[in-house]
Amino acid sequence: ITSTMMDVPLQVRRLLEHGSTIHGTSRVVTATGTGTHETTFADIARAAARLAGALSSLGVRPGDRVATFMWNNHRHVEAYFAVPAMGAVLHPLNIRLFPEQIAFTANHAADRVVIVDNSLLAGFAKLLPSLKSVRHVIVAGAADRSVLDGTGVGVHDYETLLAAQPVTYDWPDVDERAAAAMCYTSGTTGHPRGVVYSHRSIYLHALAESMPDVFDLSARDLLLGVVPQFHVLAWGLPYAAFATGTSMAMPDRFLAPEPLAAFIAAARPNKGAGVPTVWMGLLQYAEAHPEADLSSLTSLVVGGSAMSEALMRGLDARGITGLHAWGMTEMSPLGTLSRPPAGADDEESAGYRLTQGRFAAPVEARLVGPDGDVLGWDGETVGELEVRGPWITGSYYLDNDEDRFDEGWLRTGDVGTITSNGYLRLTDRARDVIKSGGEWISSVELEGHLAAHPAVVEAAVVGVPDDKWGERPLATVVVKEGEQVDVTELRDFLSTKVAKWQLPERWAVVPEIPKTSVGKFDKKIIRAAYAQDDLN
Ligand code: ADP
Repeated sequence: ITSTMMDVPLQVRRLLEHGSTIHGTSRVVTATGTGTHETTFADIARAAARLAGALSSLGVRPGDRVATFMWNNHRHVEAYFAVPAMGAVLHPLNIRLFPEQIAFTANHAADRVVIVDNSLLAGFAKLLPSLKSVRHVIVAGAADRSVLDGTGVGVHDYETLLAAQPVTYDWPDVDERAAAAMCYTSGTTGHPRGVVYSHRSIYLHALAESMPDVFDLSARDLLLGVVPQFHVLAWGLPYAAFATGTSMAMPDRFLAPEPLAAFIAAARPNKGAGVPTVWMGLLQYAEAHPEADLSSLTSLVVGGSAMSEALMRGLDARGITGLHAWGMTEMSPLGTLSRPPAGADDEESAGYRLTQGRFAAPVEARLVGPDGDVLGWDGETVGELEVRGPWITGSYYLDNDEDRFDEGWLRTGDVGTITSNGYLRLTDRARDVIKSGGEWISSVELEGHLAAHPAVVEAAVVGVPDDKWGERPLATVVVKEGEQVDVTELRDFLSTKVAKWQLPERWAVVPEIPKTSVGKFDKKIIRAAYAQDDLN
Protein backbone atom coordinates (compact mmCIF):
# COMPACT_ATOMS: atom_id res chain seq x y z
CA ILE A 1 0.00 0.00 0.00
CA THR A 2 1.08 3.61 -0.34
CA SER A 3 1.22 6.21 2.42
CA THR A 4 -1.72 8.57 2.73
CA MET A 5 0.41 11.43 4.04
CA MET A 6 0.70 14.77 2.25
CA ASP A 7 3.98 15.40 0.49
CA VAL A 8 4.62 18.91 1.79
CA PRO A 9 8.12 20.24 1.06
CA LEU A 10 10.34 21.19 3.99
CA GLN A 11 11.33 24.80 3.27
CA VAL A 12 13.19 27.63 5.00
CA ARG A 13 10.20 29.77 4.11
CA ARG A 14 8.06 27.66 6.46
CA LEU A 15 10.46 28.19 9.35
CA LEU A 16 10.20 31.94 8.72
CA GLU A 17 6.39 31.85 8.57
CA HIS A 18 6.13 29.69 11.67
CA GLY A 19 8.59 31.66 13.79
CA SER A 20 7.23 35.07 12.84
CA THR A 21 3.57 34.20 13.52
CA ILE A 22 3.47 31.59 16.30
CA HIS A 23 6.52 33.18 17.97
CA GLY A 24 6.17 36.71 16.58
CA THR A 25 7.17 38.29 19.91
CA SER A 26 10.38 36.28 20.30
CA ARG A 27 13.38 38.59 20.04
CA VAL A 28 16.73 39.10 18.39
CA VAL A 29 18.86 41.25 20.71
CA THR A 30 22.03 42.67 19.10
CA ALA A 31 24.99 44.23 20.89
CA THR A 32 25.71 47.77 19.72
CA GLY A 33 28.80 48.49 21.80
CA THR A 34 27.01 51.08 23.88
CA GLY A 35 23.87 49.05 24.58
CA THR A 36 21.51 46.68 22.81
CA HIS A 37 19.19 46.80 19.80
CA GLU A 38 16.02 44.70 19.91
CA THR A 39 13.78 43.41 17.20
CA THR A 40 11.08 40.71 17.13
CA PHE A 41 10.68 37.66 14.91
CA ALA A 42 7.64 39.41 13.37
CA ASP A 43 9.86 42.41 12.52
CA ILE A 44 12.51 40.09 11.10
CA ALA A 45 9.90 38.57 8.76
CA ARG A 46 8.80 42.00 7.52
CA ALA A 47 12.41 43.04 6.90
CA ALA A 48 13.13 39.69 5.22
CA ALA A 49 10.19 40.26 2.84
CA ARG A 50 11.55 43.73 2.02
CA LEU A 51 15.05 42.37 1.52
CA ALA A 52 13.72 39.68 -0.84
CA GLY A 53 11.87 42.41 -2.79
CA ALA A 54 15.05 44.49 -2.95
CA LEU A 55 17.22 41.58 -4.09
CA SER A 56 14.65 40.69 -6.69
CA SER A 57 14.71 44.30 -7.96
CA LEU A 58 18.49 43.96 -8.32
CA GLY A 59 17.97 40.97 -10.58
CA VAL A 60 18.55 38.11 -8.11
CA ARG A 61 16.82 34.99 -9.43
CA PRO A 62 16.27 31.52 -7.94
CA GLY A 63 19.59 29.72 -7.56
CA ASP A 64 21.69 32.93 -7.61
CA ARG A 65 24.20 33.25 -4.79
CA VAL A 66 23.82 36.13 -2.36
CA ALA A 67 26.78 36.49 -0.03
CA THR A 68 27.05 38.17 3.36
CA PHE A 69 30.13 39.76 4.90
CA MET A 70 28.71 40.33 8.35
CA TRP A 71 28.89 39.74 12.10
CA ASN A 72 26.13 38.09 14.13
CA ASN A 73 23.30 40.63 14.20
CA HIS A 74 19.62 41.14 13.36
CA ARG A 75 20.24 42.14 9.73
CA HIS A 76 22.27 39.03 9.18
CA VAL A 77 19.34 37.00 10.54
CA GLU A 78 17.08 38.81 8.04
CA ALA A 79 19.39 37.69 5.22
CA TYR A 80 19.44 34.13 6.61
CA PHE A 81 15.71 33.90 5.91
CA ALA A 82 15.14 36.24 2.96
CA VAL A 83 17.73 34.72 0.64
CA PRO A 84 16.79 31.01 0.88
CA ALA A 85 13.04 31.74 1.19
CA MET A 86 13.09 33.64 -2.15
CA GLY A 87 14.79 30.63 -3.76
CA ALA A 88 18.27 32.15 -3.93
CA VAL A 89 21.32 30.69 -2.16
CA LEU A 90 22.81 32.30 0.94
CA HIS A 91 26.60 32.29 1.12
CA PRO A 92 28.00 33.73 4.36
CA LEU A 93 31.63 34.65 3.62
CA ASN A 94 34.07 33.81 6.38
CA ILE A 95 35.39 37.29 7.17
CA ARG A 96 38.32 35.86 9.11
CA LEU A 97 39.90 33.91 6.28
CA PHE A 98 42.91 35.37 4.48
CA PRO A 99 41.78 37.78 1.73
CA GLU A 100 42.92 35.38 -1.03
CA GLN A 101 40.85 32.60 0.53
CA ILE A 102 37.77 34.81 0.84
CA ALA A 103 38.16 35.77 -2.82
CA PHE A 104 38.59 32.11 -3.72
CA THR A 105 35.31 31.16 -2.01
CA ALA A 106 33.33 34.11 -3.44
CA ASN A 107 34.60 33.43 -6.96
CA HIS A 108 34.12 29.68 -6.64
CA ALA A 109 30.53 30.21 -5.48
CA ALA A 110 30.02 32.94 -8.14
CA ASP A 111 28.38 35.32 -5.65
CA ARG A 112 26.35 38.07 -7.43
CA VAL A 113 25.41 40.29 -4.52
CA VAL A 114 27.18 40.88 -1.21
CA ILE A 115 25.59 42.39 1.89
CA VAL A 116 28.33 44.01 4.01
CA ASP A 117 28.27 45.31 7.58
CA ASN A 118 29.38 48.94 7.76
CA SER A 119 32.02 48.01 10.36
CA LEU A 120 33.61 45.65 7.81
CA LEU A 121 33.39 47.96 4.81
CA ALA A 122 37.02 49.15 4.76
CA GLY A 123 38.38 45.59 4.58
CA PHE A 124 35.73 44.58 2.08
CA ALA A 125 36.57 47.51 -0.22
CA LYS A 126 40.12 46.16 -0.57
CA LEU A 127 38.77 42.73 -1.37
CA LEU A 128 36.16 43.81 -3.91
CA PRO A 129 38.48 44.15 -6.97
CA SER A 130 39.31 40.45 -6.69
CA LEU A 131 35.65 39.34 -6.53
CA LYS A 132 34.89 38.54 -10.18
CA SER A 133 31.15 37.85 -10.19
CA VAL A 134 29.83 40.50 -7.79
CA ARG A 135 27.42 43.04 -9.39
CA HIS A 136 25.90 44.72 -6.33
CA VAL A 137 27.07 45.57 -2.83
CA ILE A 138 24.53 46.42 -0.13
CA VAL A 139 25.99 48.21 2.89
CA ALA A 140 24.20 47.57 6.19
CA GLY A 141 24.37 50.51 8.60
CA ALA A 142 25.56 54.10 8.19
CA ALA A 143 28.84 54.31 6.31
CA ASP A 144 30.92 56.32 3.91
CA ARG A 145 30.14 54.27 0.84
CA SER A 146 32.44 56.35 -1.36
CA VAL A 147 35.22 53.83 -0.62
CA LEU A 148 33.44 51.69 -3.23
CA ASP A 149 33.39 54.45 -5.87
CA GLY A 150 34.84 53.51 -9.23
CA THR A 151 34.58 49.75 -8.63
CA GLY A 152 31.92 49.37 -11.31
CA VAL A 153 29.42 47.59 -9.06
CA GLY A 154 26.06 48.90 -7.85
CA VAL A 155 26.39 50.28 -4.30
CA HIS A 156 23.31 50.51 -2.07
CA ASP A 157 22.29 51.38 1.46
CA TYR A 158 20.48 48.49 3.15
CA GLU A 159 17.77 50.50 4.90
CA THR A 160 17.05 52.75 1.90
CA LEU A 161 16.76 49.74 -0.37
CA LEU A 162 14.39 47.97 2.04
CA ALA A 163 12.25 51.05 2.69
CA ALA A 164 11.25 51.10 -0.99
CA GLN A 165 9.77 47.59 -0.77
CA PRO A 166 6.50 46.17 0.62
CA VAL A 167 6.50 44.25 3.93
CA THR A 168 5.17 41.12 2.27
CA TYR A 169 6.73 38.97 -0.41
CA ASP A 170 5.18 36.30 -2.56
CA TRP A 171 7.50 33.53 -1.38
CA PRO A 172 7.83 30.82 -4.02
CA ASP A 173 7.34 27.13 -3.34
CA VAL A 174 10.75 25.59 -3.85
CA ASP A 175 11.81 21.99 -4.13
CA GLU A 176 12.93 20.87 -0.69
CA ARG A 177 16.06 19.41 -2.28
CA ALA A 178 17.02 22.73 -3.89
CA ALA A 179 20.10 24.60 -2.66
CA ALA A 180 19.31 27.04 0.17
CA ALA A 181 22.72 28.03 1.52
CA MET A 182 26.39 27.22 1.25
CA CYS A 183 29.47 27.41 3.44
CA TYR A 184 33.12 26.65 2.89
CA THR A 185 35.30 24.70 5.30
CA SER A 186 37.86 26.91 6.94
CA GLY A 187 40.59 25.25 4.94
CA THR A 188 42.57 23.81 7.84
CA THR A 189 44.08 21.58 5.16
CA GLY A 190 44.34 22.77 1.56
CA HIS A 191 41.90 25.20 -0.03
CA PRO A 192 38.42 25.78 1.42
CA ARG A 193 35.83 23.30 0.16
CA GLY A 194 32.20 24.22 -0.51
CA VAL A 195 29.20 22.47 1.00
CA VAL A 196 25.70 23.27 -0.26
CA TYR A 197 22.80 22.83 2.18
CA SER A 198 19.26 22.15 0.97
CA HIS A 199 15.95 23.44 2.36
CA ARG A 200 15.24 19.94 3.56
CA SER A 201 18.59 19.50 5.30
CA ILE A 202 18.29 22.86 7.07
CA TYR A 203 14.73 22.12 8.19
CA LEU A 204 15.44 18.63 9.53
CA HIS A 205 18.62 19.87 11.23
CA ALA A 206 16.66 22.68 12.93
CA LEU A 207 14.11 20.26 14.35
CA ALA A 208 16.61 17.72 15.63
CA GLU A 209 18.94 20.37 17.03
CA SER A 210 16.15 21.77 19.19
CA MET A 211 15.39 18.48 20.96
CA PRO A 212 15.83 18.23 24.76
CA ASP A 213 18.85 15.95 24.63
CA VAL A 214 20.44 18.10 21.96
CA PHE A 215 20.37 21.94 22.38
CA ASP A 216 17.12 21.81 24.37
CA LEU A 217 15.61 24.94 22.81
CA SER A 218 12.23 26.47 23.60
CA ALA A 219 10.35 29.77 23.50
CA ARG A 220 11.41 30.30 27.13
CA ASP A 221 15.10 30.54 26.22
CA LEU A 222 17.40 33.39 25.22
CA LEU A 223 20.37 31.90 23.41
CA LEU A 224 23.70 33.71 23.17
CA GLY A 225 24.88 33.03 19.61
CA VAL A 226 28.66 33.43 19.78
CA VAL A 227 29.30 30.91 17.03
CA PRO A 228 29.72 33.13 13.96
CA GLN A 229 26.99 33.31 11.34
CA PHE A 230 29.82 33.03 8.81
CA HIS A 231 30.74 29.59 10.16
CA VAL A 232 28.47 26.62 9.31
CA LEU A 233 25.35 28.82 9.37
CA ALA A 234 25.92 29.63 13.05
CA TRP A 235 25.47 25.90 13.70
CA GLY A 236 21.99 26.27 12.17
CA LEU A 237 20.81 28.00 15.37
CA PRO A 238 18.87 30.89 13.76
CA TYR A 239 16.74 28.28 11.94
CA ALA A 240 16.26 26.24 15.13
CA ALA A 241 15.32 29.50 16.90
CA PHE A 242 12.50 30.16 14.41
CA ALA A 243 11.34 26.55 14.66
CA THR A 244 11.02 26.84 18.45
CA GLY A 245 10.59 30.55 19.24
CA THR A 246 13.95 30.72 21.01
CA SER A 247 15.07 34.35 21.34
CA MET A 248 18.63 35.10 20.30
CA ALA A 249 21.31 37.40 21.72
CA MET A 250 23.77 38.36 18.98
CA PRO A 251 27.11 39.91 19.97
CA ASP A 252 27.90 41.53 16.58
CA ARG A 253 31.62 42.43 16.61
CA PHE A 254 31.83 42.74 20.39
CA LEU A 255 33.42 39.37 21.05
CA ALA A 256 36.33 40.34 23.30
CA PRO A 257 35.78 39.20 26.90
CA GLU A 258 35.00 42.64 28.32
CA PRO A 259 32.26 43.76 25.91
CA LEU A 260 30.92 40.18 25.74
CA ALA A 261 30.58 40.11 29.53
CA ALA A 262 28.83 43.50 29.41
CA PHE A 263 26.44 42.22 26.73
CA ILE A 264 25.65 39.13 28.81
CA ALA A 265 24.92 41.32 31.83
CA ALA A 266 22.62 43.54 29.73
CA ALA A 267 20.78 40.94 27.62
CA ARG A 268 20.79 38.13 30.25
CA PRO A 269 20.86 35.03 27.99
CA ASN A 270 20.37 31.70 29.79
CA LYS A 271 22.03 29.51 27.13
CA GLY A 272 24.87 29.91 24.69
CA ALA A 273 26.82 28.28 21.89
CA GLY A 274 30.41 28.82 20.78
CA VAL A 275 34.00 27.58 20.56
CA PRO A 276 36.04 26.88 23.72
CA THR A 277 38.45 29.82 23.31
CA VAL A 278 35.63 32.35 23.67
CA TRP A 279 34.30 30.77 26.87
CA MET A 280 37.83 30.43 28.23
CA GLY A 281 38.47 34.14 27.66
CA LEU A 282 35.16 35.02 29.28
CA LEU A 283 35.88 32.89 32.37
CA GLN A 284 39.31 34.45 32.83
CA TYR A 285 37.85 37.90 32.51
CA ALA A 286 35.18 37.10 35.09
CA GLU A 287 37.84 35.75 37.47
CA ALA A 288 39.83 38.97 37.22
CA HIS A 289 36.71 41.18 37.38
CA PRO A 290 34.39 40.06 40.19
CA GLU A 291 31.84 42.67 39.13
CA ALA A 292 31.26 40.83 35.80
CA ASP A 293 27.76 39.38 35.92
CA LEU A 294 27.39 36.05 34.11
CA SER A 295 24.67 34.88 36.50
CA SER A 296 21.97 34.56 33.82
CA LEU A 297 23.82 31.71 32.09
CA THR A 298 22.83 28.16 33.00
CA SER A 299 24.32 26.09 30.15
CA LEU A 300 26.74 26.53 27.29
CA VAL A 301 27.25 24.28 24.31
CA VAL A 302 30.95 24.12 23.53
CA GLY A 303 32.02 22.85 20.12
CA GLY A 304 34.33 23.27 17.17
CA SER A 305 37.24 21.89 19.16
CA ALA A 306 37.58 19.97 22.40
CA MET A 307 36.40 21.47 25.70
CA SER A 308 39.13 20.89 28.30
CA GLU A 309 38.23 19.60 31.74
CA ALA A 310 39.59 22.86 33.17
CA LEU A 311 37.05 24.83 31.13
CA MET A 312 34.20 22.52 32.12
CA ARG A 313 35.11 22.74 35.84
CA GLY A 314 35.54 26.51 35.61
CA LEU A 315 32.04 26.81 34.17
CA ASP A 316 30.68 24.38 36.79
CA ALA A 317 32.07 26.59 39.54
CA ARG A 318 29.83 29.40 38.23
CA GLY A 319 26.79 27.17 38.00
CA ILE A 320 27.06 26.91 34.20
CA THR A 321 26.81 23.44 32.68
CA GLY A 322 29.25 23.05 29.79
CA LEU A 323 28.16 20.51 27.18
CA HIS A 324 30.19 19.30 24.24
CA ALA A 325 28.88 19.35 20.69
CA TRP A 326 30.81 17.79 17.85
CA GLY A 327 30.24 18.43 14.18
CA MET A 328 31.68 19.78 10.97
CA THR A 329 30.84 22.16 8.12
CA GLU A 330 30.12 19.03 6.08
CA MET A 331 27.50 17.99 8.69
CA SER A 332 25.44 21.24 8.93
CA PRO A 333 27.20 20.87 11.57
CA LEU A 334 25.43 18.74 14.17
CA GLY A 335 26.78 15.28 14.91
CA THR A 336 26.66 14.75 18.67
CA LEU A 337 25.83 16.42 21.97
CA SER A 338 27.13 15.30 25.35
CA ARG A 339 24.05 15.10 27.59
CA PRO A 340 24.72 12.50 30.29
CA PRO A 341 22.44 9.44 30.36
CA ALA A 342 19.60 9.08 32.87
CA GLY A 343 20.73 8.06 36.34
CA ALA A 344 24.32 9.33 36.10
CA ASP A 345 25.51 11.06 39.30
CA ASP A 346 27.41 14.38 39.19
CA GLU A 347 30.87 12.87 38.73
CA GLU A 348 29.68 10.37 36.11
CA SER A 349 27.85 13.18 34.36
CA ALA A 350 31.03 15.25 34.25
CA GLY A 351 32.77 12.30 32.59
CA TYR A 352 30.02 12.02 29.98
CA ARG A 353 30.03 15.77 29.38
CA LEU A 354 33.70 15.55 28.44
CA THR A 355 33.00 13.02 25.70
CA GLN A 356 31.85 14.43 22.37
CA GLY A 357 28.44 12.95 23.17
CA ARG A 358 25.70 10.93 21.54
CA PHE A 359 24.57 11.13 17.93
CA ALA A 360 21.42 13.02 16.97
CA ALA A 361 18.77 10.64 15.62
CA PRO A 362 19.28 11.08 11.85
CA VAL A 363 23.09 10.80 12.09
CA GLU A 364 24.47 7.31 11.49
CA ALA A 365 28.05 6.64 12.52
CA ARG A 366 30.64 3.91 12.19
CA LEU A 367 34.28 3.45 13.14
CA VAL A 368 36.62 2.19 10.47
CA GLY A 369 40.05 0.66 11.02
CA PRO A 370 43.18 1.21 8.93
CA ASP A 371 42.32 -1.77 6.70
CA GLY A 372 38.82 -0.55 6.03
CA ASP A 373 37.14 -2.97 8.44
CA VAL A 374 34.21 -1.70 10.51
CA LEU A 375 35.09 -1.73 14.23
CA GLY A 376 32.96 -2.39 17.29
CA TRP A 377 31.52 0.13 19.76
CA ASP A 378 33.31 -0.96 22.93
CA GLY A 379 34.65 2.38 24.15
CA GLU A 380 38.21 1.23 23.51
CA THR A 381 38.79 0.35 19.88
CA VAL A 382 40.08 3.43 18.06
CA GLY A 383 39.14 4.10 14.45
CA GLU A 384 38.27 6.82 11.97
CA LEU A 385 34.73 8.04 12.29
CA GLU A 386 32.48 7.90 9.24
CA VAL A 387 28.98 9.36 9.14
CA ARG A 388 25.93 9.60 6.91
CA GLY A 389 22.54 11.21 7.17
CA PRO A 390 20.07 13.65 5.60
CA TRP A 391 22.10 16.78 6.52
CA ILE A 392 25.55 15.38 5.76
CA THR A 393 27.18 16.31 2.49
CA GLY A 394 27.66 13.57 -0.09
CA SER A 395 30.19 15.56 -2.12
CA TYR A 396 31.88 18.97 -2.31
CA TYR A 397 30.66 21.79 -4.53
CA LEU A 398 32.48 21.66 -7.88
CA ASP A 399 35.31 19.77 -6.28
CA ASN A 400 36.43 16.25 -6.80
CA ASP A 401 37.42 14.83 -3.47
CA GLU A 402 36.52 11.20 -3.70
CA ASP A 403 38.92 10.10 -0.98
CA ARG A 404 36.79 11.99 1.57
CA PHE A 405 33.96 9.53 0.93
CA ASP A 406 33.71 5.80 1.51
CA GLU A 407 30.82 3.94 -0.14
CA GLY A 408 28.19 6.54 0.72
CA TRP A 409 29.75 7.57 4.05
CA LEU A 410 31.61 10.82 4.77
CA ARG A 411 35.08 10.25 6.19
CA THR A 412 35.30 12.82 8.98
CA GLY A 413 39.07 12.73 9.44
CA ASP A 414 38.36 12.42 13.18
CA VAL A 415 39.69 9.50 15.18
CA GLY A 416 38.16 8.09 18.35
CA THR A 417 36.13 5.47 20.17
CA ILE A 418 32.39 4.91 20.68
CA THR A 419 30.92 3.26 23.79
CA SER A 420 28.22 0.61 23.57
CA ASN A 421 25.64 3.23 24.58
CA GLY A 422 26.74 5.54 21.76
CA TYR A 423 29.08 8.10 23.37
CA LEU A 424 31.76 9.28 20.98
CA ARG A 425 35.17 10.18 22.37
CA LEU A 426 37.49 11.83 19.89
CA THR A 427 41.13 11.20 20.52
CA ASP A 428 42.32 13.41 17.68
CA ARG A 429 41.98 14.58 14.13
CA ALA A 430 43.62 11.98 11.92
CA ARG A 431 46.26 14.46 10.81
CA ASP A 432 46.98 15.69 14.37
CA VAL A 433 47.58 12.28 15.93
CA ILE A 434 51.24 12.01 16.90
CA LYS A 435 52.73 8.79 15.57
CA SER A 436 55.65 7.94 17.84
CA GLY A 437 57.29 4.64 16.99
CA GLY A 438 54.42 2.22 16.48
CA GLU A 439 52.20 4.03 18.98
CA TRP A 440 49.73 6.88 18.70
CA ILE A 441 49.77 9.81 21.11
CA SER A 442 46.62 11.89 21.39
CA SER A 443 47.46 15.60 21.14
CA VAL A 444 44.02 16.43 22.54
CA GLU A 445 44.62 14.39 25.70
CA LEU A 446 47.95 16.10 26.44
CA GLU A 447 46.39 19.51 25.79
CA GLY A 448 43.54 18.77 28.18
CA HIS A 449 45.92 17.77 30.98
CA LEU A 450 48.19 20.76 30.48
CA ALA A 451 45.24 23.16 30.48
CA ALA A 452 44.37 21.79 33.95
CA HIS A 453 47.63 23.15 35.42
CA PRO A 454 46.77 26.24 37.48
CA ALA A 455 49.39 28.43 35.79
CA VAL A 456 48.44 27.47 32.23
CA VAL A 457 45.97 29.42 30.09
CA GLU A 458 46.03 27.07 27.13
CA ALA A 459 48.28 24.53 25.47
CA ALA A 460 48.61 23.09 21.99
CA VAL A 461 50.54 19.91 21.27
CA VAL A 462 51.77 18.93 17.79
CA GLY A 463 53.90 16.16 16.36
CA VAL A 464 57.32 17.23 15.13
CA PRO A 465 59.69 15.09 13.05
CA ASP A 466 62.05 12.94 15.08
CA ASP A 467 64.90 10.84 13.68
CA LYS A 468 64.39 7.94 16.03
CA TRP A 469 60.63 7.84 16.57
CA GLY A 470 59.30 9.35 13.36
CA GLU A 471 57.38 11.94 15.35
CA ARG A 472 57.45 13.21 18.91
CA PRO A 473 55.13 15.62 20.73
CA LEU A 474 56.02 19.28 21.12
CA ALA A 475 54.00 21.30 23.62
CA THR A 476 53.41 25.03 23.26
CA VAL A 477 52.03 26.61 26.40
CA VAL A 478 50.59 30.01 27.28
CA VAL A 479 51.25 30.91 30.92
CA LYS A 480 48.83 33.07 32.95
CA GLU A 481 49.80 36.69 33.40
CA GLY A 482 51.85 37.18 36.55
CA GLU A 483 52.52 33.43 36.95
CA GLN A 484 55.84 31.69 36.55
CA VAL A 485 56.25 28.07 35.71
CA ASP A 486 59.18 26.13 34.32
CA VAL A 487 59.05 23.32 31.86
CA THR A 488 60.32 20.70 34.32
CA GLU A 489 57.37 21.43 36.55
CA LEU A 490 54.93 21.08 33.66
CA ARG A 491 56.57 17.84 32.63
CA ASP A 492 56.33 16.48 36.17
CA PHE A 493 52.70 17.54 36.33
CA LEU A 494 51.96 15.75 33.07
CA SER A 495 53.86 12.64 34.16
CA THR A 496 51.22 12.02 36.85
CA LYS A 497 48.55 11.85 34.12
CA VAL A 498 49.99 10.04 31.10
CA ALA A 499 52.48 7.26 30.36
CA LYS A 500 56.11 8.33 30.39
CA TRP A 501 56.69 7.62 26.70
CA GLN A 502 53.98 10.14 25.85
CA LEU A 503 55.69 13.06 27.62
CA PRO A 504 56.86 15.80 25.27
CA GLU A 505 60.62 16.40 25.19
CA ARG A 506 60.20 19.70 23.40
CA TRP A 507 58.45 22.67 24.93
CA ALA A 508 57.86 26.30 24.07
CA VAL A 509 56.31 28.91 26.34
CA VAL A 510 54.60 31.33 23.95
CA PRO A 511 52.63 34.57 24.35
CA GLU A 512 49.71 33.11 22.38
CA ILE A 513 48.74 30.10 20.32
CA PRO A 514 48.02 30.81 16.66
CA LYS A 515 44.33 30.28 15.85
CA THR A 516 42.40 29.64 12.65
CA SER A 517 39.68 31.92 11.33
CA VAL A 518 37.15 30.24 13.59
CA GLY A 519 39.27 30.20 16.74
CA LYS A 520 40.79 26.71 16.65
CA PHE A 521 44.46 26.01 17.32
CA ASP A 522 46.21 26.41 13.96
CA LYS A 523 48.45 23.35 14.13
CA LYS A 524 49.65 23.87 10.57
CA ILE A 525 51.32 27.12 11.67
CA ILE A 526 52.64 25.65 14.92
CA ARG A 527 54.15 22.66 13.12
CA ALA A 528 55.75 24.89 10.50
CA ALA A 529 57.21 27.17 13.16
CA TYR A 530 58.91 24.37 15.05
CA ALA A 531 59.63 21.81 12.35
CA GLN A 532 63.28 22.88 12.08
CA ASP A 533 63.99 23.90 15.65
CA ASP A 534 65.59 21.79 18.27
CA LEU A 535 64.06 23.08 21.48
CA ASN A 536 65.24 20.48 23.93
P1 ADP B 1 37.56 22.91 9.58
O1 ADP B 1 37.48 21.47 9.18
O2 ADP B 1 37.89 23.79 8.48
O3 ADP B 1 38.36 23.15 10.84
P2 ADP B 1 34.99 22.67 10.83
O4 ADP B 1 34.51 23.71 11.75
O5 ADP B 1 34.02 22.05 9.94
O6 ADP B 1 36.10 23.35 9.99
O7 ADP B 1 35.76 21.61 11.71
C1 ADP B 1 35.23 20.37 12.04
C2 ADP B 1 36.21 19.67 12.93
O8 ADP B 1 36.35 20.33 14.19
C3 ADP B 1 35.82 18.27 13.29
O9 ADP B 1 36.12 17.37 12.26
C4 ADP B 1 36.63 18.03 14.56
O10 ADP B 1 37.96 17.66 14.26
C5 ADP B 1 36.66 19.38 15.21
N1 ADP B 1 35.64 19.44 16.27
C6 ADP B 1 34.40 19.95 16.19
N2 ADP B 1 33.76 19.84 17.36
C7 ADP B 1 34.59 19.24 18.23
C8 ADP B 1 34.50 18.83 19.60
N3 ADP B 1 33.41 19.03 20.33
N4 ADP B 1 35.57 18.22 20.14
C9 ADP B 1 36.69 18.00 19.42
N5 ADP B 1 36.83 18.37 18.14
C10 ADP B 1 35.80 18.98 17.54
